[in-house]
Amino acid sequence: MIKMPASEPLSEYHKKRDLRRTTEPDGDNEEDIKHAPIFVIQKHAATRLHYDFRLEADGVLKSWAVPKGPSTNPKQMRLAVPTEDHPIDYAQFEGTISKGQYGGGTVMVWDTGTYEDLRAEKEGIPMYESLAQGKVEFRLHGKKLKGAYALVRTKMRGKDQWLLIKKKDGTENADVDILNEKPDSALTGRTMEEIANND
Ligand code: MN
Repeated sequence: MIKMPASEPLSEYHKKRDLRRTTEPDGDNEEDIKHAPIFVIQKHAATRLHYDFRLEADGVLKSWAVPKGPSTNPKQMRLAVPTEDHPIDYAQFEGTISKGQYGGGTVMVWDTGTYEDLRAEKEGIPMYESLAQGKVEFRLHGKKLKGAYALVRTKMRGKDQWLLIKKKDGTENADVDILNEKPDSALTGRTMEEIANND
């Protein structure tokens, strides 16, 4: 391992700050699109297969575990159980995690892209407030999922539960099972098996 001089972490920090300054949003260029908040859906073969739905907000990935995965059918509301915030970098992660960490198992980037915060657009409500209110509405620009979805907190049998719901905006499709039709990685095209075998 190379020994770094004591000043190295700070110079790294400044390098990052400079990088950030050069890409500051200025209205309408390509960099702004890159700065749109991201979402990721990670297919996770833990003890039970589920889909981890994550939205970038407040510098982290707000996360929900969706046992049945997202649907393109507005009538199929999917239970979404809040889980711990993840670092933004985690959105790129595909591979196998050791037992004991988030249940272990293979993780695939099933879908990813950017999103628009619809409540911010329509009502001027910031994302942190939407999250606190338990009512988040967003338009996904994924490789697989497109259009408006909502995450809504509701009472079910006296318990707080969140639901992931496809909104009707012309992008809904009740005739397709997108999880089965497009099962592979949006990042690398790999199957779960290929990821597990590190092919
Ligand atoms: Mn998980």
